[in-house]
Amino acid sequence: MKLVGIDIGGTKILIAKISGTGILKESINLPMSNDNYRKVLEKIIIEIKKFGNISAVGISIAGDVDGKNGILRYSPNLPKWTNVHLKKYFEKKLNVPTVVDNDANCAAYGSYIIDGQRKYKNFITVTLGTGIGGGIIINGKLYRGSTGSAGEIGHITINPDGPKCSCGNNGCLEAYIGTKGIIKIANDFGLKSKSGITPAIIADKARKGNRQAIRVYEKFSEYLAVGVGSLINIFNPDMLTFSGGVSNNWDLIEKRFFDELKKRAFKTPLEHVKIIKSKNPGNLGAIGAALLSQK
Ligand SMILES: [Zn+2]
Repeated sequence: MKLVGIDIGGTKILIAKISGTGILKESINLPMSNDNYRKVLEKIIIEIKKFGNISAVGISIAGDVDGKNGILRYSPNLPKWTNVHLKKYFEKKLNVPTVVDNDANCAAYGSYIIDGQRKYKNFITVTLGTGIGGGIIINGKLYRGSTGSAGEIGHITINPDGPKCSCGNNGCLEAYIGTKGIIKIANDFGLKSKSGITPAIIADKARKGNRQAIRVYEKFSEYLAVGVGSLINIFNPDMLTFSGGVSNNWDLIEKRFFDELKKRAFKTPLEHVKIIKSKNPGNLGAIGAALLSQK
């Protein structure tokens, strides 16, 4: 079984050949261009054909996705890509079944299989990156909700009077611990850099012992625990994983996160749930999309 998983992001596109068990065999990256989306899709097709015979395609993309019909309704990172019938396009060009889902759902499904080995039937993945996303698996099945909009974990309100979020609400989890939120915490702690500041730069400083940088990740961890505590109380999952770029800083997050989580979640579900950083935080979107195509 040769599958193709594609992760279409705002700056780059990962195209990967993936085995039926979710092992990434071969991959290439294309930069995202400003071209009309049709041109971008043509380039993707050319790359996929280089893999030879394939049996299915899965596409992971950030945004509002109609998973049933394989349509990208809207993507905040790709304003020109509205109502793109991805499933129809790929099936016509490649003549293999194609599934499309949003990146967090794909990451959750990939993590469910790679990290959880399908053993933890009630499963949540929280993606930590520019934005905060999530995917929910209930009884071994991806839960998409009534309109495909479930799992917007980043938009749990953690403070009704908090800062404005990109979604229009105030005080969402994402407004605190998405990339912009992390930088705001850093600025509040007086952490500045001439060359600019990013979550990775802050993490580097923290590992070198910079007190303010350590505090940034402590604060981050506290907010994260507030959001995750609600998830545990609502869903009572067997396992919860973190993926996305910022999860690479788990060493700076873990301790404060668990301390805070004990105050936020009920004891019984908290003792039950296994919480880890994904073993494969960077490629889960493409892997999960490919695996979803097999179902
Ligand atoms: Zn929001």
